[in-house]
Amino acid sequence: MTVGTGEAECKGCGYTYDPKNGDPDYPVSKGTQFQNLPDDWQCPVCGGQKDIFITKQKEVAGFAENQGYGLGANSMTGEQKSLTIFGSLLFFFVLFILGYFLN
Ligand SMILES: [Zn+2]
Repeated sequence: MTVGTGEAECKGCGYTYDPKNGDPDYPVSKGTQFQNLPDDWQCPVCGGQKDIFITKQKEVAGFAENQGYGLGANSMTGEQKSLTIFGSLLFFFVLFILGYFLN
């Protein structure tokens, strides 16, 4: 699940609109979410229109997401473990075969 942070980044110049600061030049009062800015608001740095901004999203971890994440992390750890064990076994097996042929 994702929600807008109220921040947005300008594709033109990389300026980030932060609702904590608002835009004193327009002026936009502090606490105004990007999606609530007036349509004729422009990037204070490069003058880009609102529609070239990319709104920032953040993940909100709910119960289901946490569970999935936990399971995912657990199975990944297990895989990595068996991969490491298998990898080292293979490594020693190859060393053994090489040693066998060298002798
Ligand atoms: Zn800009």
